[in-house]
Amino acid sequence: MRLVFLGAPGVGKGTQAEKLSSKFGLKKISTGDLLREAVRNGTPLGLEAKSFMDQGRLVPDSVVIGLVREKLSDTSCSNGFVLDGFPRTVPQAEELGRVLDERSIDLSAVINFEADRDEIVNRLSGRRSCPKCQATYHTEFAPSKTGNSCERCSELLVQRSDDTKEAIETRLKVYQEQTAPLIAYYQNRNLLSQVASMGPIDSVFDSLVKVITADKHA
Ligand code: AMP
Repeated sequence: MRLVFLGAPGVGKGTQAEKLSSKFGLKKISTGDLLREAVRNGTPLGLEAKSFMDQGRLVPDSVVIGLVREKLSDTSCSNGFVLDGFPRTVPQAEELGRVLDERSIDLSAVINFEADRDEIVNRLSGRRSCPKCQATYHTEFAPSKTGNSCERCSELLVQRSDDTKEAIETRLKVYQEQTAPLIAYYQNRNLLSQVASMGPIDSVFDSLVKVITADKHA
């Protein structure tokens, strides 16, 4: 399976991509995670990306496309992959099409996750993550069993620098302007399926598995 996960920030793409990757042995490629890793490591790419990310703006296409190209050529993708947070603009989608063509492969499906704006804002503002292993929690919906530290590695949980009120507003606006047009883009290519992303993580996951194992995408 070769999947793209679309949807507003905070809709749950990363959480669902993680679960789906474990269940089906797919490689999860999250451009947000890759960029945050570059920022943490202080690489030139990370330094270039940081100010865009902190403000909630998109990192330039050329930077992100280079990252994804490199990851897709990795043998760990041969069993399939989930692209989480890429593409986010029409030029990125076009470039992804070219990369897949070069490898003579197609996407199996593009899943568009949907949730109400209020729910999204709640999810983003309560999100906490582990700076060491990147595990994510939510103060209300998925709290860490160990309080404000990570269940896996005991690190103190932090709020992402782009989960502040101002950055959340910008990210939602950027999503509407630059990423939402991809819904029609993939609909026109007969690849789009919708998954309602309201409610508990496990019930969203059940809906997702039903959609991707339906005949159309098998
Ligand atoms: P995410 O973890 O997917 O919410 O991404 C966090 C931030 O990383 C975004 O707000 C952007 O600044 C940057 N980013 C992630 N993916 C992309 C992408 N495909 N294109 C441009 N910027 C991206």
